[in-house]
Amino acid sequence: NFTDYQASDNLLKDRVILITGAGDGIGKAAALSFARLGATVVLLGRTVEKLEKVYDQIEAEGGKQPAIVPLNLESASHIEYRQIAETIETEFGRLDGLLLNAAILGDVRPLEYFPMELFEKVMQVNVNAQFMLLRTLMPMLRESEQGSIILTTSSVGRKGRANWGAYAVSKFAIEGMMQTLADELKDTSNIKVNCINPGATRTQMRASAYPAEEPASICPPDAIMPLYNYLMGPDSAGVTGQSLDAQVK
Ligand code: NDP
Repeated sequence: NFTDYQASDNLLKDRVILITGAGDGIGKAAALSFARLGATVVLLGRTVEKLEKVYDQIEAEGGKQPAIVPLNLESASHIEYRQIAETIETEFGRLDGLLLNAAILGDVRPLEYFPMELFEKVMQVNVNAQFMLLRTLMPMLRESEQGSIILTTSSVGRKGRANWGAYAVSKFAIEGMMQTLADELKDTSNIKVNCINPGATRTQMRASAYPAEEPASICPPDAIMPLYNYLMGPDSAGVTGQSLDAQVK
């Protein structure tokens, strides 16, 4: 149970961490949390104005100057992924952490009636784009004394549930990617690879999946940060190949 983990001051000092979907929801909370713990954060997302707001907040709080990487994970080319790696290498010369957080819900409806184009779109953003980032950023993570990769799963990525369609399938793929990569890296690198299941969290995605729900009754993103901080920092050395819950009921 890591829900009451207390990060020490400057836990992530001198670390460079890339967060996808850093402009909103859980990704935004993680970017702010890592920056408060001393990290230099690279904010990746598709809506630049949202990323700029997070950037400004980090600067206002006296955090290390962040970087913004605008990228649409639905349409990005292989060249763009390589350019991101080159930019981080040139700008910072290192990458220690990768939080693969961005995802889309697609639609809540049975697979039997799921639109074909939407299935492809969900798999592109939630699975293929995650692989592209891993593929291009891995060389830099290998150079870190203690690299940490966090992928983002869901309870429907562990047990299928009616109507969760492409989203559920994509999160099963994320669990598989995490297990495969963790097994490949366990003896030959200092990189740990784990999944976080955030649990019900008060964001746009949650609101679109459960429109009738009262948002105030749902856990805010800030409250699930202990597990994110723990897995990103040195206190979780040796923890790899795990799929952990950020909220324990
Ligand atoms: P939000 O929809 O609030 O935020 C998702 C973020 O991903 C946004 O910043 C969004 O950018 C970005 N994003 C979406 N599509 C793209 C794209 N094509 N290219 C680049 N960035 C993109 O979601 P949450 O914060 O709720 O979810 C974060 C993660 O947690 C996801 O992986 C989700 O599956 C998972 N999760 C969430 C739960 C919850 O209850 N909230 C429960 C279980 C899992 P923009 O702001 O521009 O739209």
